[in-house]
Amino acid sequence: MKNVILTGDRPTGKLHLGHFVGSLTQRVMLQNSGKFEEIYIEIADAQATTDNADNIEKIRQNIIEVALDYLACGIDPKKSTIFLQSQIPELCELTFYYLNLVTLARLQRNPTVKQEMKQRNFEKSIPVGFLTYPVSQAADITAFNANIIPVGDDQLPMIEQTKEIVRTFNNTYGKTLVEPTAVLPENETCCRLPGLDGKAKMSKSLGNCIYLSDPPEEIKRKVMEMYTDPNHVKVSDPGSTKNNPVFIYLEAFVTDEHLKKYLPEYKNLEELKNHYEHGGLGDVKVKKFLNDVLQEILAPIRKRREEFQKDIPEVYKILYEGSKKARKVASETVNKVKTAMGINYFEDTELINYQIEKFQKNK
Ligand code: ATP
Ligand code: MG
Repeated sequence: MKNVILTGDRPTGKLHLGHFVGSLTQRVMLQNSGKFEEIYIEIADAQATTDNADNIEKIRQNIIEVALDYLACGIDPKKSTIFLQSQIPELCELTFYYLNLVTLARLQRNPTVKQEMKQRNFEKSIPVGFLTYPVSQAADITAFNANIIPVGDDQLPMIEQTKEIVRTFNNTYGKTLVEPTAVLPENETCCRLPGLDGKAKMSKSLGNCIYLSDPPEEIKRKVMEMYTDPNHVKVSDPGSTKNNPVFIYLEAFVTDEHLKKYLPEYKNLEELKNHYEHGGLGDVKVKKFLNDVLQEILAPIRKRREEFQKDIPEVYKILYEGSKKARKVASETVNKVKTAMGINYFEDTELINYQIEKFQKNK
C-alpha cells in the first residue's frame, strides 16, 4: 500500500499558531521525510461555505492567504499537491453516495459538530450542509486513498466518522476504500492550542488568535494582553500555570535553547513554572519571554511570506496545477466507487448482455 497524506484547512481566515503546532509543523516534517509517495493539502473552500453561505467573499479572500501561509511555513508545491476543494466536483459525487451510509443520529452525536453548532448559534436551525460536513471530509480523505491524516485533536471525531464510512462501504460493496489513521502532534499541548482568552481552542472563526502573518507589534500587543491567572495579582502571589494560556503556549513553543538565550537563570521550563507557582515571578516577565520566543519563530515565516506575496499569479498557478492533478486522482476513485456499487452502467458489459438476453427471452 502507498503511503499517502491528506490534510487541509478551511479558508475562513489566515492561519494561526494553533495550525502551526497542531498540523503545519507535522506536515512539513512528513513532507521532508521522503517517506510518503503522495501528499495532498486541501484548501477546504467548499466546506467553508457550510457555515458561511451568506459570506462567500470571506472565503474568496482567504484562499490566497492560506496558500501564502502554507508556502511561508515550508509546504513545497514540488513535493505536496495543494488544491482547492471546490474545483474537484468528484468530491461532491462521493459525498452524495456516502451520505447513504451514515445515520442522522450518528451525525448529531459528533462532539466537534455539536460544539461548533453551539459556537455558531446553529442549535435551533442548522444548515444541512454543515451537519453533513464530516461526510464530505470522508470524501476528501478517501478520494486520494490517504492513510495518514495529520490533525489537531478536534478532528478526531471526523477521522472516526471516515473510518466508519470506509468500513460500511467496503462491507457493502467490496473492499475499495482505504481506511485512514489520524496523526496527532507528539506534544499533547499542541493537539488543541487554546485561544488568547484561554477558553476555547484557538480558532479563526472565534478571532482569539495570533496569526502567523501578524506584524511584530501585533504579536507583542496580543501577548501582553493575554489572560493569565486572575488570582496572581502581586508579583509575590503564588500563581497557577494550569489553565494559564501563557504557560500553555510556553509548553508548546519553548525549547531549552530559547531559555538559554532569553532567560538563562532558569535551566528548564519546569524551573520557571515552579517559580511562578511559588510566587515571586511577575506575569510581565513571563509574557516578555513568550513574546521573544514567538517573535523568533514567526520572523522567518513572515519574511518568506513577503517573498511569495510578490508573485500572486504564481500562487494561483500552484493552486490551479495542484487542483488539476488532484482531480485526476479523485476521478479514478469515483470510477472505482461507481464500479464497486454497480452504477457504472455503460462499462458494465455483463449487465448490458444480461438485459439483452432477458428481453430476447421475453420475445
Ligand atoms: P474554523 O474556526 O473556521 O473552523 P480553525 O481555526 O478551526 O477554523 P480549521 O481550518 O478548521 O481551523 O483546522 C485546520 C487544521 O488545524 C485541523 O487539522 C485542526 O485540527 C488544526 N487546528 C485548528 N485549530 C487548532 C488548535 N487551536 N490547536 C491545534 N490544532 C488546531
Ligand atoms: Mg475548525
